[in-house]
Amino acid sequence: MGISPYHAQLLTKIKQRPISEQNAIIQAYLYAEKVHMHQKRLSDEPYIVHLVETACIIDDLHGDTTTMIAGLLHDILEDTQVSLEEVLNIFGEEIVFLIQGVTKLSTLKYRGLKRHAESLRKLFIAMAEDTRVIVIKLADRLHNMRTIKYLKPDKQKRIAEETLDIYAPLAHRLSMGTLKSELEDLSFQIINPQAYAITEQLMYEKSRLYTDDLTTIKKLLQEKLHIEAIQVHAIDTRKKHLYSLNKKLQRNDMHIESIFDVFALRVIVKTIHECYTVLGIVHAHWQPVPNRIKDYIASPKINGYQSIHTTIFTGTGSIIEVQIRTQIMHEYAERGNASHVRYKTNDHKSISPHSSEAWMHTIKTQSKATINRERLLESKIETTQKAWLQNMVAEQKDIIHAQHFVKSITNDFLRERIFVFTPRGEIIDLPIGATSLDFAYALHSDIGNHVHAVKVNGRLIPLNRPLVNGDIVQIETNKKSAPSEKWLRNVVTTCARKHIRLYLTKERNTIKKN
Ligand code: MN
Repeated sequence: MGISPYHAQLLTKIKQRPISEQNAIIQAYLYAEKVHMHQKRLSDEPYIVHLVETACIIDDLHGDTTTMIAGLLHDILEDTQVSLEEVLNIFGEEIVFLIQGVTKLSTLKYRGLKRHAESLRKLFIAMAEDTRVIVIKLADRLHNMRTIKYLKPDKQKRIAEETLDIYAPLAHRLSMGTLKSELEDLSFQIINPQAYAITEQLMYEKSRLYTDDLTTIKKLLQEKLHIEAIQVHAIDTRKKHLYSLNKKLQRNDMHIESIFDVFALRVIVKTIHECYTVLGIVHAHWQPVPNRIKDYIASPKINGYQSIHTTIFTGTGSIIEVQIRTQIMHEYAERGNASHVRYKTNDHKSISPHSSEAWMHTIKTQSKATINRERLLESKIETTQKAWLQNMVAEQKDIIHAQHFVKSITNDFLRERIFVFTPRGEIIDLPIGATSLDFAYALHSDIGNHVHAVKVNGRLIPLNRPLVNGDIVQIETNKKSAPSEKWLRNVVTTCARKHIRLYLTKERNTIKKN
């Protein structure tokens, strides 16, 4: 009996990995295929297609094997009957931690309120705890966007908007440039098909004009760099993607002539030193457009992006952008580094490294991912210390940058505050330990004063139960309900306490008067 085409596709994709890791991935594949057996996608394909595609996207992002396995299993807790214990027994703690993270994130629903998008993005990162969870979620979303045509038009639109408002900016923050652009273009086409078509047409016309020019400049530049003995890794031409071109067109009255970076030549070299040398060579041979030089190597963008950009007159009437960066910077700009967190595995020497059990054993025995991540960061700093001294300042900054970004957000958002939703999707932020009473008073004192019952995520809960991140809180009021002394013990916010006291004092005064 031959293997299925999906199995074959996955095998081809992972053939560069060590045999033990390949086996572990295939073990997860076979398990997912079994438990999702009778499920289908709206495309009428077997469900496993979605899981294999998700894993393949994770592989494109250079995700580690643990992330790949969790990617194959990401829907099992939500969509199948398997028990948590079973998954834990077969795949271990770390995989379960990642799957649960992904499942948890799907409880966060974006309800189209643009002003809450930023909070929701931060909440996403905070709740994910480990950036690999977001990587899986983004891969899942990308495949869902690639197959969005099978959904009904109104649902397509809702999902495309959510993708554009939440997921694409998240990918941007994590510096996953390629994935971000694809998400944006897929969404753009659904949200505004007319604008998409116009932009596509403008791009097509511009391409026809520029193709020859770009080829000439590329060849010339190659020669000049060769003469100067610069080791060029690659010179690519890059086209601006349609969504971002359209945004820029809107800012320029739809005049594509005033946009200089529709096309760029991307020069990828080995060292930072060479980046600056290349800049010098480019400027020595072509006239730069004034005030268009951006040194994102010395001052990286907030998501860690690094590159030198300059815009030049080609001498034949056109203007193009030249981007210069090292291979490491390029890799980071395209894929980010959130997906390849690799752990030290030096505690399994006694076990043959070529069995999938051995590999499963290592991941099972690893303690919580977060602790490992700390260690990883330290070891990265250690090992890059030497390179750092050898003129690698920026790359180093890069690696720490992304990790720090996630860490600082997690700290800000999880230490002190929780974010919960009204049934209409408004986000209310409260201090940790806040209850539904605090929530009710945060909405309005009238609501607080008449809380009768509370449903959290659709279930009735006691008024004194602390809320957690992502809860959807529905307050039922009743004119007869009123604050009591006891309520003071069930709230943590000053606002709630103040209103309860006020009410109780008023009530006492009324009783006295009577
Ligand atoms: Mn999925």
